[in-house]
Amino acid sequence: DPNILVAGETLIDFLPDRPGSLREVETFTRRPGGAPANVAVGLAALGEVPWFWTRVGGDPFGEDLIETLESHDLPQRLVERDPDAKTTLAFVSHDEEADREFSFYRDRTADTRMEPGTIDDALLERVSWVHLGGVTLASDPSRAATLELAERAGEFGCTVSFDPNARPELWDDREEFEALVGEILPQVDVLKATPEDLAEAGIEGEGTDLARAACDRGPHTTLVTLGGEGALAVGTDESPWNDEASHPGYRVDPVDTTGAGDAFTAGAIAALAGGEGLAEALAFGNAVAATTTTAEGAMTALPDGERVERFRAETPTGE
Ligand code: ATP
Repeated sequence: DPNILVAGETLIDFLPDRPGSLREVETFTRRPGGAPANVAVGLAALGEVPWFWTRVGGDPFGEDLIETLESHDLPQRLVERDPDAKTTLAFVSHDEEADREFSFYRDRTADTRMEPGTIDDALLERVSWVHLGGVTLASDPSRAATLELAERAGEFGCTVSFDPNARPELWDDREEFEALVGEILPQVDVLKATPEDLAEAGIEGEGTDLARAACDRGPHTTLVTLGGEGALAVGTDESPWNDEASHPGYRVDPVDTTGAGDAFTAGAIAALAGGEGLAEALAFGNAVAATTTTAEGAMTALPDGERVERFRAETPTGE
């Protein structure tokens, strides 16, 4: 039986065929996506197949996503089909500097309709780790479902990890995002975020001070990813990983960084849940993430453990 439960959105990303603003890009390639879906597939690729609770629409996109999840060996028990809703679509563009722009088609879509109380006690008793994301906090009932699952997972003694995935396009204003992240963080044990996510949530600082400032809001452990500069982590006195660590990342020529943060999350969770410390979790997470940036697509590029090992043996780290 899986030891980890991942919950949240599965959606279709429309990725631009060339750089430019969403006002002008004409052709897109569709890819399965959604941060929690990427994390779930990443864990499965690493041999740590999780439960994945998600909800897709009763449309051809939903059928395609279910097939994709099946093809990555994720168990189907918690994959819900919603005949009364559409699947979320996300159009993405980026300029020459890779700064991204999003437009979400997510009005009352299936993933927003994930219901509180879906995950039963028996399942929470059997898993030791629950991973959640910030996108399902953007509207109800998935907001209530996410908050409730975080709280109950804690009561069952699970380690709760959370990625805020700040997407300003999904929120009425920054204050609303900050309030919801502030509400869930006391239930979170392990926070994974970028400095931009944290800034959106009103958490500022540099380096390990930033991670400590995040830990002041509730999590005992915070991992901060820094793009091409790798990642750092802090665990407080309450953390089983009471330590500080950083890793400079691996030197690669990225072709597609979509889902790199999710690949990092999968690697870091697999390492920490497998008994490794912060330093190894960062090195492994960075290696999984860097590997995925060298191929197109968020899910198809996720490596297995052997591939990660080879990559680490042959790739230099950053400065
Ligand atoms: P966002 O989704 O907001 O763009 P992200 O979630 O992709 O950000 P990043 O911090 O940009 O998060 O990247 C996550 C991880 O991916 C990094 O910690 C690093 O391991 C890897 N990575 C990203 N870009 C590069 C790069 N140019 N070279 C090597 N590794 C990279």
